[in-house]
Amino acid sequence: MKVMQDGREICNQYTSTGRKEYTKRTIAMLVRQRGLCCLCGLYLSPDEATFEHQDGRGMNGSHRDDRIEKDGKPYNGAAHGRCNVEKGSKRINYNS
Ligand SMILES: [Zn+2]
Repeated sequence: MKVMQDGREICNQYTSTGRKEYTKRTIAMLVRQRGLCCLCGLYLSPDEATFEHQDGRGMNGSHRDDRIEKDGKPYNGAAHGRCNVEKGSKRINYNS
């Protein structure tokens, strides 16, 4: 996991450690959301859960931030793959 100068954290998905950490974070958010998708609010199984970036990932992932908490508040979410794709790069603040 890489910590950027502006505080963003990025898991390296090209390594198994990075992928594990990414999955671990996705599941932690799923638990925090009581097993529901952050976008559609329906039941989401851990197998289907994908990491949803609240503020999008920006061009080539330049804004990507894999933190699940920011300034002591929940940040990002776990979502169905299809909900994540539908949302695209729109910003939806489901944590407030
Ligand atoms: Zn969903």
